[in-house]
Amino acid sequence: MNLSKVTPMIKQYLSIKEKYADSILFYRMGDFYEMFFEDAKTASRILEITLTSRNKKDEHPIPMCGVPFRAAQNYIARLIDNGCKVAICEQVEDPAASKGLVKRDVVRVITPGMILDDELLDEKSNNYILAIACDNAIGLSCLDISTGSFRVYESKDFLSVIDEALRISPSEILLPESIKNAPLFFQINNALSEKSITFLDDKVFEYRKARERLIKQFKTVSLEGFGCEKLKAGVSAAGALIFYVLDTQKQQLDHITGIETYKLSNYLIVDDISSRNLELIKNIRTGSKPGTLINIIDRTITSMGGRLLKTWIRYPLIDIDKIKLRHDAVEEAKDNIQVRKRLRESLKSVYDLERLCSKICMGHSNARDLIALKQSIQSLPDICSALSLLQSELFKLTLNPDRLYGPANLIDSSIREDAPLTVNEGGIIKKGYNKELDGLINLSQEGKGWLARLETREKDATGINSLKVRYNKVFGYYIEIPKTHSEIVPANYVRKQTLVNAERYITDELKAYEKKVLGAEERRSALEYEIFNGIREQVITNNKTIQHAAQFLARLDCLLNLAEIAEQNDYNRPQINTDGRIIIEDGRHPVVEKMIAGERFVPNSINIDNDDNQIIIITGPNMAGKSTILRQVALIVLMAQMGSFVPAKKASINVTDRIFTRVGALDNLSSGQSTFMVEMEETANILNNANEQSLVIMDEIGRGTSTFDGLSIAWAVAEYLHDLNQKGVKTLFATHYHELTDLAQKKHRIKNYNIAVKEWNDEIIFLRKLVEGGTNRSYGIQVARLAGIPEYVIKRAKKILYNIESRENKLNGASIPPDRQHASIMGDHDKQQVQLNLFKQPETFVIEKLQQLDISKTTPIEALNYLNELKEKLKKNEHRTSNGKR
Ligand code: ADP
Ligand code: MG
Repeated sequence: MNLSKVTPMIKQYLSIKEKYADSILFYRMGDFYEMFFEDAKTASRILEITLTSRNKKDEHPIPMCGVPFRAAQNYIARLIDNGCKVAICEQVEDPAASKGLVKRDVVRVITPGMILDDELLDEKSNNYILAIACDNAIGLSCLDISTGSFRVYESKDFLSVIDEALRISPSEILLPESIKNAPLFFQINNALSEKSITFLDDKVFEYRKARERLIKQFKTVSLEGFGCEKLKAGVSAAGALIFYVLDTQKQQLDHITGIETYKLSNYLIVDDISSRNLELIKNIRTGSKPGTLINIIDRTITSMGGRLLKTWIRYPLIDIDKIKLRHDAVEEAKDNIQVRKRLRESLKSVYDLERLCSKICMGHSNARDLIALKQSIQSLPDICSALSLLQSELFKLTLNPDRLYGPANLIDSSIREDAPLTVNEGGIIKKGYNKELDGLINLSQEGKGWLARLETREKDATGINSLKVRYNKVFGYYIEIPKTHSEIVPANYVRKQTLVNAERYITDELKAYEKKVLGAEERRSALEYEIFNGIREQVITNNKTIQHAAQFLARLDCLLNLAEIAEQNDYNRPQINTDGRIIIEDGRHPVVEKMIAGERFVPNSINIDNDDNQIIIITGPNMAGKSTILRQVALIVLMAQMGSFVPAKKASINVTDRIFTRVGALDNLSSGQSTFMVEMEETANILNNANEQSLVIMDEIGRGTSTFDGLSIAWAVAEYLHDLNQKGVKTLFATHYHELTDLAQKKHRIKNYNIAVKEWNDEIIFLRKLVEGGTNRSYGIQVARLAGIPEYVIKRAKKILYNIESRENKLNGASIPPDRQHASIMGDHDKQQVQLNLFKQPETFVIEKLQQLDISKTTPIEALNYLNELKEKLKKNEHRTSNGKR
């Protein structure tokens, strides 16, 4: 573009745009934000608004589009949603006072992680921006500027950092420029691909500067008090975040007063895949809330409580004492129905104090925010008095509400309840709060009477009854007289405007008056704005107390919520133990029990420990309820450790350090990736990280590959989990490979269970009851009939099955290579039937057992029992064969 040719305005535009190349520049012109050049093309496409051009006749017209200033929010939200950043460029001097082009500058950059407006934020979710920095270790820091929540974490384990980033699920990520070519970046990018990544100069991440920035922000001398002095990479990441926020927001961040250093080893870790499989926050298929745990257990009243509850789900505790404190509180609140109801009622008038506080600190608040703050504080006395009726440690007041009453009274005496959304048009401050303001208000109110009097006087003087004194923005005050009376207008009237039927006049008197009144109106708005800011400043000095109150109320809301849902959903208090046992009596799946219509949810009991019942293999036909019981155990453990009561008659839960889940490829159709590969990666992760304090859920692993591979992998994985570190890992293993039940004979901590079904008239009835022992039937055809497969196909399938099974019997003992068995037209399920002798046959088993037996050391009774066991084993085989021949 030839710069000598462009107008001064475009020149100004370009020089500003240059500094904000990666953002869409909203250039303020009067009542509009205008966009030019490429920005205009992008924005008009995303916002579906008309693309025009600025100088149509020119050889190279400049593309342009615009949105009204007052409706900008909406448009900004849509651009942000589409991964854009928006730089807001305002007129920074009064257009009336300026000579020539009005000065303009960017006052704020809005990015996905830098949103403060309530309308653009989900009230029950945090909006985190995340930074990652590398040193000897990898540091990760996240900040929600809308709440002031600021945390830092460091680890040498790269995968754990990625996983933590996913847990935080930020809306924006900051990375140092130089990472772009590192393998690390590709992994980050892979894992967090949809997120918006912003690269910053490496200097921004430089440790020393980053540390200084933090110290300055927190007004401390070191970071010792926050426990992150030694975390070089963590501090670098946190410092980069502060840089970015200051740079984009261009203002102080008084509400960010500290940073929390945390360790994942203090929490029960549920990796990202597992939390997706368990559908804690998001439905695995739809990505939305229905069908999730949060949807069932979130009855919080405040947004702060809602956000905290999500944090509790993501970070369940492992400190027994802390878990018990929560249970104590939930129990007390559950039992004290009256107090609970009263407290929950009071919480309804508590607004989002965290976000209010941030808005007030950052100067984005209006009078309504102050009113909301006041009303929230005003509900404290009632909350405090209700709390005094409760004993639990977590209900003890840790805040001094007296310190908040001052600000509340200040707001009460000064801010009008009906204040407008804008802060510079007056109407904010109550009468009686400020003398000067009252004087100005009187003046403009007296003015109305004066005008009426003037009108009457002029009517009388001129004898024109239709004479009106009126006001408009363009002409100010004027006298309007119908044209029919033009002749008799007095000489001191000066004509200003001619309409079709009337003429408009001014007089000196009217102009003098106008000056006084309009001046007063303007002075009034300015003064109100000034007073409002003063009040805001005073309120800010209490920001730490407000934040503290916010945290306390959020926790209170969560605990009351857990009590409420415990009552509504019939949950009971779990015991927490360290003896390695997970004992659940009559447990239910918290979500499925609410989803099944018509059918009653059948509770199930289960014991898992590190001695005899460590690996529970659960078999049963499709649709029997295997996946449900697996997830239900994991959810009950997680709920117990987050402080919730659990859907079970009784439960005693060993403090679990990690929950891993692996769900077979077909149960999890959501991704288009090579499912088998993903499955194996996830399995590897479990095998490398689980220990005897962990809980592993294996749901149909091996499904993603051929039956033989799958069965072999499932078998080997189960063995490995049993033998891991000679201690093994508590595992629930659902499988349709009923051959796996043979494992229980080889490995003593493995036990077989199945979900009972009843056969009735060639149909099956699901009993949903977990019972001891394995199964050897899949009932695939019956399930297919239930699903509505046409009778013809069912009959045909039965016939094929019959053929296969008779062939299997012929094959028994014969050495047909597995690949030949594969070469058939049968489906996977049918093939399984052919593979019964893949693993050790009962005969071999019996022979081996006899060889092992030392008769000289065996009592007659033992020998008899032994014989009995061998006979049982053979009987089982007979049973299989006869089943096959049916
Ligand atoms: P599987 O994994 O064995 O194929 P699922 O666990 O997916 O079976 O369960 C299938 C359906 O059966 C569930 O969607 C639910 O509707 C129902 N179901 C499962 N467990 C129970 C139960 N204990 N009580 C009642 N219905 C259940
Ligand atoms: Mg299943």
